[in-house]
Amino acid sequence: MHATRIEIDTKQFITNLQAIRNKVSKVKICLPLKANAYGHGILQMAQVALPYVDYLAVAFMAEGQLLRDNGITLPILVFGAFGSEDVPGLVTNKLEITISSIFKATQVANYCKNSGQRARVHIKVDTGMNRVGVRVETAPELLKYVLSLPELDLVGIYSHLATADEDDRTFALEQINRFKQVASLAKSLKPDIVCHLANSAGVCYYTDSYFDMVRPGILSYGYFPRPLDIHNTESLSQIKPCFSLKSRVIYTKIVEKDQGISYNHRYITKSSTRVITLPIGYGDGYPRILSNIGEVILRGHKYTISGTICMDMLMVDIGENGVSYVDDEVVLIGRQGDSEITLDSVANQCGTIIYEILCGFIDRIPRVYL
Ligand SMILES: *Cc1c(COP(=O)(O)O)cnc(C)c1O
Repeated sequence: MHATRIEIDTKQFITNLQAIRNKVSKVKICLPLKANAYGHGILQMAQVALPYVDYLAVAFMAEGQLLRDNGITLPILVFGAFGSEDVPGLVTNKLEITISSIFKATQVANYCKNSGQRARVHIKVDTGMNRVGVRVETAPELLKYVLSLPELDLVGIYSHLATADEDDRTFALEQINRFKQVASLAKSLKPDIVCHLANSAGVCYYTDSYFDMVRPGILSYGYFPRPLDIHNTESLSQIKPCFSLKSRVIYTKIVEKDQGISYNHRYITKSSTRVITLPIGYGDGYPRILSNIGEVILRGHKYTISGTICMDMLMVDIGENGVSYVDDEVVLIGRQGDSEITLDSVANQCGTIIYEILCGFIDRIPRVYL
């Protein structure tokens, strides 16, 4: 097996989905699988999740097509705005399309008419994210237009929360209120329409945001939107990460005192010391900004990375008395014994959010499903 790997604890992933199910009760669950399932592996995570969710979601046509090509038949919503070149793939793969203007609705309907197909669509309403979506005031017009097109089956209407992970609840509550108005109009025109708003933060902190379906991404993978907060979400206490990043020692050597390690010698040994090399680097998505500050766990002890992280390797000074042999397992994110390196701590060191770290790990690192 490749020395560097991402391990996914699928049992924990299922536990997370079940905890969300208990929390939202009969409301439908849509699992976001975009960006390779937040780095966890899109196809495998989709397959594991199938019995536990009602809907899948991706960002682009190609992600949805990959799922369809591999026999996944659950409804798949494509969140992203699409270009005209995507329309045939969206319709033919029976992906549910996000419509946010009359122009886009017409484009899809015309393609359907010419090719003798139908399309399932969701209207996207902008309640304050100011990304894509029709404005609340013009939503009624778009709703009626889409309902008038015989080629389009309107199955849903949705919006996205911009601030639900913040302490200040004012704007999230405002968005929920705006969406309530649109949702009640939509229900009056089409009683079985699926109204949906909640992301992970909505699921955790705003019961009023559930409507007919929730779309928890990061929470499904085991992380809370406000990690440093005492989330008053006891019902979700079983939710835990299912992702670990591991490698193995591929080389170990003694380096003399006052020697520079790695490119530009940004780390200088303080004594004669043992240095281990791991086959992982920024070419795998392990951020180079962690040079000299990132940590690894070896034989139950934490050590700091020594010097510049290379494209394919990094070095760690484990000290004069450090013990390590080739093939020792090293944890970069996750647990080993009583030691743990959390994704939160890694993201903090990088000055970013956990989402970005997860999405950064490329396919070169094999995913192993336990
Ligand atoms: C990514 C995404 C989500 C999930 O967000 P999380 O913060 O990971 O829960 C939900 N809805 C839309 C439209 C998204 O793009």
